[in-house]
Amino acid sequence: MIQEALGGPLTHSIRKGFGLFAAFLPAQDASDRRGDQEASQRLFAKIEQAKQEWETTADALPELICLVDHRGRIIRANRTVEAWRLGRVDRIAGTDFHALIHPSCDVRTCCWGEFLQQARERARLGQLAELEVYDSILRRYLLITAQPVPAQRRVPNSLVIVIQDVSDRKQAENVRRRYMARLEVMNQIQEAILASHSPEEIAQAALSRIRQLAPVQHARVTLFEQDSGQFLVLAADANGDTHLRPGASVGREAFEGAATRQPDRFYMVEDLQDVPAPSPVERELRAAGIRSYVSLPLAAEGEFIGSFSLGAHQPAAFNQEHLDIADEVADLLAIAIRQAQIDRQLQKANAELAEALQVKDTMIQNVSHELRTPLFLIKGYAEMVREGLAGPVTTEQEDALNTVEAQSNRLAHMVSQLLALKALNSASLLKVAVSPAELLQDAADCWKLLGAKAGVQLRVELEPDLPSCLADPNLMHHVIGNLLDNAIKFSPQGGLVCIRASRDAGRLLIAVVDQGIGIPADKTEKIFERFYQIENGLNRRFGGMGIGLALCQEIVQAHGGRIWAESAGEGRGSTFLVSLPLAAV
Ligand code: ADP
Repeated sequence: MIQEALGGPLTHSIRKGFGLFAAFLPAQDASDRRGDQEASQRLFAKIEQAKQEWETTADALPELICLVDHRGRIIRANRTVEAWRLGRVDRIAGTDFHALIHPSCDVRTCCWGEFLQQARERARLGQLAELEVYDSILRRYLLITAQPVPAQRRVPNSLVIVIQDVSDRKQAENVRRRYMARLEVMNQIQEAILASHSPEEIAQAALSRIRQLAPVQHARVTLFEQDSGQFLVLAADANGDTHLRPGASVGREAFEGAATRQPDRFYMVEDLQDVPAPSPVERELRAAGIRSYVSLPLAAEGEFIGSFSLGAHQPAAFNQEHLDIADEVADLLAIAIRQAQIDRQLQKANAELAEALQVKDTMIQNVSHELRTPLFLIKGYAEMVREGLAGPVTTEQEDALNTVEAQSNRLAHMVSQLLALKALNSASLLKVAVSPAELLQDAADCWKLLGAKAGVQLRVELEPDLPSCLADPNLMHHVIGNLLDNAIKFSPQGGLVCIRASRDAGRLLIAVVDQGIGIPADKTEKIFERFYQIENGLNRRFGGMGIGLALCQEIVQAHGGRIWAESAGEGRGSTFLVSLPLAAV
């Protein structure tokens, strides 16, 4: 019989409980069968000992174990009844089981009534009944099992009921479930925030999901505007509350977090009905049926930037967990909103910069254009005077006229460079097969005279049998001329400038190498920016206006090529390299 009682999917301790309550019944039967008094006394003593052992064991178990008769009256129970403060173990026999568990419950349909009935029905089939329930009177989660004890002569149709308190496990499960749900919603909020681009979208993304985590009937995100000292509602989610629209400016009242305006403090009102002198915003909230609210500051880099507020129809609706959630959301919001603000400022600054650059370019183009006519006239008249058309010219006057002509030529060159920068685009290029040897030799011939004047020698070194490259000959001539002009300008007297060309990985590689002042490593890229010169205006020794290399770069890039500078450092010469696509064979 003990074996029967021990069958079924029970925990070890529950099984022991069944064992105890079933054990002493068959022992009584056995004693009846025996006639021998001595033997039966010994047997009784043994049974008594076994019974006490079992009782001690059962008393030590944390489960409440009861043997209940067919009418639901308790025959015996272990000491857990005392631990659970339900009664005394020595006075409990005969008490109604349901009344023991629920002393003041007269609802027959309460879970216990139903369970006992079900347990008896199953007992008739020799089966175990099991129920897991939250007992709202005992305030515990219980796992209840009822095991039938086969009919005895004295105790027919009795049940062993084992009640296990599983509150700790249940609570841990509930905490885990809530935590997972919270994690999921927090993830959703985070993803939505990250996918949003404006502060308004970010705020709206958070508000549309916060309801899943807290009892919220009203939520709002505001931004504090330092300049005006006003709060601007970024997003409001208020169940049809028409008073509070996004964008409306709303005072410094508590719901906006203004009461503290400190990054590390939140503001909570448990019941708006109890607030003696409500602020205008609190009156609005009250009118919208809000009883309790909490408002948290949004802080970025320790600075108060706005607030995040939640309101509920219930008084004292927000517990510590809700505050923790709101705090996490506020942190996310603050970071994302600040990031979006910075992005927005950057975009604005970029747009303004692009506009300013455009204005500058247009102005340069216009001025350059306007300079062309007077320059042409200056050159023309200077030439006319030099040729004696305005009367005889002295040697001093001729020198002066030469200077006028040279400088106006230089000016004309600069103006044409500026205009060329504007006009340049890859579609307008005339690309033909150009012989590198011709191109470079031609350029060297043109600049030889200038080199000689500066005491700089030019040398052309070409790899034999170079294939043609695909280029606009005039523009490429301009590029090489510009590099030679610089190489001569920045070389010392007696210096050598080499113009080399070779084949490199299926492209033409041109190098203009000088022994001049060199370029610091951190400037080799900057010199290709428009108007950039290494020496600034005050200490300039050389002429020019910092536009030549920018123009070279645009021309080379329009050809699908690349131009760059290399230098071993100041005073150690420079090499300018141009790589160009070869013409198809
Ligand atoms: P610039 O009219 O001033 O020569 P560029 O655009 O041609 O304008 O060159 C920009 C700047 O790059 C120069 O002012 C100079 O500081 C530097 N640079 C150009 N070529 C050389 C070179 N061969 N050696 C040293 N510095 C150079």
